[in-house]
Amino acid sequence: MIDFRSDTVTKPTAPMLDAMFHAQVGDDVFGEDTSINALEEKVANMFGMEAAIFCPSGTMTNQIAIKCHTQPGDEIICDRLSHIYQYEGGGIGFNSGCSVHLIDGNYGRINAGQVEAAINNKNDVHKAYSKLVSLENTANRGGGSCYNFEDILEIKKVCDANDLFFHLDGARLFNALVAKNETPKQYGEVFDSISICISKGLGAPVGSLLLGSKNFISKARRIRKVFGGGMRQAGYLAAACIYALDNHVQRLKEDHEHAFQIANILKKKDFVGEIFTVETNIIIFEVKGRMTAAEMEARLQKNNIGVIAISKTQVRMVTHLDVSASMINETIQVLNDL
Ligand SMILES: *Cc1c(COP(=O)(O)O)cnc(C)c1O
Repeated sequence: MIDFRSDTVTKPTAPMLDAMFHAQVGDDVFGEDTSINALEEKVANMFGMEAAIFCPSGTMTNQIAIKCHTQPGDEIICDRLSHIYQYEGGGIGFNSGCSVHLIDGNYGRINAGQVEAAINNKNDVHKAYSKLVSLENTANRGGGSCYNFEDILEIKKVCDANDLFFHLDGARLFNALVAKNETPKQYGEVFDSISICISKGLGAPVGSLLLGSKNFISKARRIRKVFGGGMRQAGYLAAACIYALDNHVQRLKEDHEHAFQIANILKKKDFVGEIFTVETNIIIFEVKGRMTAAEMEARLQKNNIGVIAISKTQVRMVTHLDVSASMINETIQVLNDL
């Protein structure tokens, strides 16, 4: 199957498995897994941040960050489509007892003016304390859209002026870095905490990291244990992540190129309406007229091509490491015949 359902479906490559096989491991709850320690240090250095912690999922890194930054009753400002709100099982309420102020952003991106308008008056006893602003880059439900870095700096100013913590859900940050020619250090300078996933486009089987100050990460280590995320000889997974960071970042350009190619074919189809601007590896488009989103999903499935109808009228396709150039050509032929 040519699987465009998500960039989480990738399998470890032979050299990645080899790196895992040869990993040095220990008990990470005792701080003795040398592969995990090396990964945490590598990522912290890469972003110019003090410390990092390895976790089993991006949901956990986001939820730990929210828990560390807030007290029950506080409020979080984020885009309406954010993963932390839409796709983490109500974790903001469940884990941290916080409310959200949702912003209708621009394909998943919010701006400084919107953030400023969302901040509650601290002296009004009716209102929750606004405590944290969370951005997503790239924005999944925005079709892999990327922020302009200047817009992030403007939001940072609002956070500083109003005592708000600033978190980045960077599950696909490396896609944004490659697309926009930016560096991890730029981001490390601006955010109080950053979550990155190595199990998406970078192709590791498991693994996310949360970055922040030393103090923040020691607090995060305690919360990770409470959430049940303290792992033991997980260095085998860390070795896959180190391999992915060393070998799979620059190649994300190919995934983006593949997504542009697919979007260009979709543009010509009479049953395709709006296609979200493709900036990275995600293509979200409207299906209308002689086909529904579900029918398109089923028709492609018959041709061994996996896509997801994410709503009654929208289909999502995601390119990644396990979709080759020849698979793209094969997909283009099938799409041409639809
Ligand atoms: C995938 C994803 C996550 C984390 O998901 P997990 O499956 O828990 O690793 C977080 N944020 C965004 C935007 C994502 O796409």
